[in-house]
Amino acid sequence: MGSAGFMTGWLGDHAGLHWAPGIDQGSTHHVIVGGPERTLAADTTGRALLIERHDQRIEGLEQHLIGTVDQRTYWVVDSSGTFEETWIWSPPRPLIIGATSAEFIPLSAALQWLDFLREHRFCGACGQSMRPSSSDRGRQCVSCSLISYPRVSPSIIILITRGDEMLLARSPRFTNGMYSTLAGFVEAGESAEHACHREIFEEVRVHIHPPKFLGSQSWPFKHSLMLGYRAEWRSGEIQVDGVEIIDAQWFHPDRLPPLPQHASISRGLIDHFLTERGYPLTSHTA
Ligand SMILES: [Zn+2]
Repeated sequence: MGSAGFMTGWLGDHAGLHWAPGIDQGSTHHVIVGGPERTLAADTTGRALLIERHDQRIEGLEQHLIGTVDQRTYWVVDSSGTFEETWIWSPPRPLIIGATSAEFIPLSAALQWLDFLREHRFCGACGQSMRPSSSDRGRQCVSCSLISYPRVSPSIIILITRGDEMLLARSPRFTNGMYSTLAGFVEAGESAEHACHREIFEEVRVHIHPPKFLGSQSWPFKHSLMLGYRAEWRSGEIQVDGVEIIDAQWFHPDRLPPLPQHASISRGLIDHFLTERGYPLTSHTA
């Protein structure tokens, strides 16, 4: 099986979707409801509740425009103080993982927009109140005019390969024996490619050939933009620090560990590699 060079068939595959952030041009309107402690309202089936814009249950709450995906416009409200018997306050992760590709974008955006509103009530420079900017989607200080925007933190996530083998690692945070690709935040002043080389060496002490960019994914935990790369191993034996990474190994496609959910770019990178090399996709998910 060949490969067009890009990842396809994962949750971050948005080919063909038209996304217009901050634009209200849909023929239907749906509201995502944010609850206490970074929860989102879900229905009894565990899917994100996308209610009609004129639903009485959100009357009186300020609606914030998220944007339009194809013909559907999404809004978000912060309903921390309101409780509805038919709503389940769900942590966002299962809702995001269970979303469709088209729902994934507004859910991720809405979650990050709620974070932005809660964390930018006051100006970071002078401490006065913030209000919506008249010129764009930021929030502006009433006193010193500083404008703030939702924070987006670029992170690199990289699949290292050595022939048919993949370097996958375990973080102490991972449950169920899952192994995943390596990832880390891009530091101020460095390029994404620098971050790839640096993170890899810091975490597993190996050197890589120049990384190749394959795609990206917004990942709202908390405000990451995951930049997905692949690189071929160049030199060095795996050594882990035992803190951030507790184990890392070369895995052949014939003996894979439990892998990340299909929602993640990590799984997108792994499946893309397996497909390119002609191996069957595994259903082995942690
Ligand atoms: Zn200010």
